[in-house]
Amino acid sequence: MNFLTKTLWIYLFCGCFVSEIVAVKVIAHRGAWKQCAIPKNSIQSLKNSAKLGVYGSEFDVHYTKDNIGIIVHDDSLKNELIEKLRFDDIKQIRIGGNEYLPTLKSFLKTAKHLPEIVLFMEIKPTSSPERDREVAALVLKNITQWGRGVPIEFITFSQSVARELLRLSPDVHVHYLEGEFTPSQIKAKGFSGLDYHFSVYQIHPDWVTEAKELNLKTNVWTVNSPEIMKQMILLNVDYITTDEPQQLLELLSTQAQP
Ligand code: MG
Repeated sequence: MNFLTKTLWIYLFCGCFVSEIVAVKVIAHRGAWKQCAIPKNSIQSLKNSAKLGVYGSEFDVHYTKDNIGIIVHDDSLKNELIEKLRFDDIKQIRIGGNEYLPTLKSFLKTAKHLPEIVLFMEIKPTSSPERDREVAALVLKNITQWGRGVPIEFITFSQSVARELLRLSPDVHVHYLEGEFTPSQIKAKGFSGLDYHFSVYQIHPDWVTEAKELNLKTNVWTVNSPEIMKQMILLNVDYITTDEPQQLLELLSTQAQP
């Protein structure tokens, strides 16, 4: 057991957290792909999230030079930044099986038929604040075109993206990923929540309580081990993002039993 883990368990053992444990919601990281060996960030992984019955399905969005939103994690394809490529240059890339690189359009259109799932859309940073702001505007425009009515929460490492989303559409929910801000600072920025790596909460377990007092949501990435799942459940975060959604669902159902 490392120092951080020991510190967190001491904090939890001392009862230094909110008294009422509410049901943690499960977010499938890049969709539910692992158990079925299907591609991450694919239409299939999105559909599989809904089939599995998780609360939300996370995915990553980049925009090409000609303003087509595509679902992929890395910022480069074919050894070139995606923002410098045209969609025609990459649309034939297969991500596994028969599925080609999915577009945001196809994702949103699929999600319209999966009303039980909440999309956790990660908008990836670009190479400049100006392009970040353009991408934020494109995302909102594309949602109006193809995803009207789909429940969506935004997550991002880019403050430029987050600020522009809120400037253009003040009612959207934006959760910040980087981990350097306290809940009070997140609140002051107008963001809806913290979505931090689990090591941040291990160092600052009190941030979960502080966030709840400020009416902010707490999400944690990317929790794949049962031990850390249990830590985060006890810490009472709102959402856990995981590559192992089925394992987390089973753990939660076990804990819920009398
Ligand atoms: Mg992501």
